[in-house]
Amino acid sequence: MAEATALPDYEVVALKYATRAGARPDHFVGGDPHEVPMPMDYYLWVVRDAKRLFLVDTGFNADMAVKRHRTLLRTPAEALGLLGIGSHDVEQIVITHLHNDHVGTFDEYPNARFHLQDDEMAFATGRYMCCERFNRAYEVEHVAGMVRLAYQDRIDFHRGDAEIGPGISVHRIGGHTAGLQAVRVHTARGWVVLASDASHYYEHFEKKRCFPLVFHVGEVLEGYARLLALADSPQHVIPGHDPLVVQRYPALSPHLAGIAVRLDPAPLPTEALAS
Ligand SMILES: [Zn+2]
Ligand SMILES: [Zn+2]
Repeated sequence: MAEATALPDYEVVALKYATRAGARPDHFVGGDPHEVPMPMDYYLWVVRDAKRLFLVDTGFNADMAVKRHRTLLRTPAEALGLLGIGSHDVEQIVITHLHNDHVGTFDEYPNARFHLQDDEMAFATGRYMCCERFNRAYEVEHVAGMVRLAYQDRIDFHRGDAEIGPGISVHRIGGHTAGLQAVRVHTARGWVVLASDASHYYEHFEKKRCFPLVFHVGEVLEGYARLLALADSPQHVIPGHDPLVVQRYPALSPHLAGIAVRLDPAPLPTEALAS
């Protein structure tokens, strides 16, 4: 605990910017016997304290929403604006992986450096992209744009685990793609882990089920143990696409309920959720 007291207690915000309809069988390898709705939400995450600001993922804009049949509720830039953050203010961006819904507005941050895993860049530019099964969630223009940023020396590449600031680190968790990274953040309630697509929904890591868009099922399942080991408790793991996240955590302010929630305090008591 002596070490923990020296670390910053970050504010961590989940920002919901888009959504789409879906049904339970869409979201699990092997399907699901319950043909009931299971919508998917899309988030950005902000990690900040008085001195530092990290953006985790950059979402997508209207072009991807139209192309991929999603509802854009607000652009990622508009979502950040709700927190008083302008695109020029962002100097550090973690890209959890290069799927279109996580890297789509990368070119809107002229002052930013990007944190990316070696394995993700290799995967997105290598042999497996010849397979529609693996390339379909990427956009070649996003990937090409990130290659250009590498040539401009604007990417900090990581191989596995890396501390990117005091009390914040990235951790490669393969499976969904070859080089996805989760983000571990020190907060007043302990270590919170932003899983991104290492667990799309709570149900994936809680029930050890697997999302169908997958490179390596074994690494997905091992990744759940890794997420849990990095977090202070299962309640400290934040899935990447679950609509429950904005229900379980307190709103940043009353008018941002259902849009921006703080992940650094404890989840709301379950009786509050029922009301
Ligand atoms: Zn993904
Ligand atoms: Zn995703």
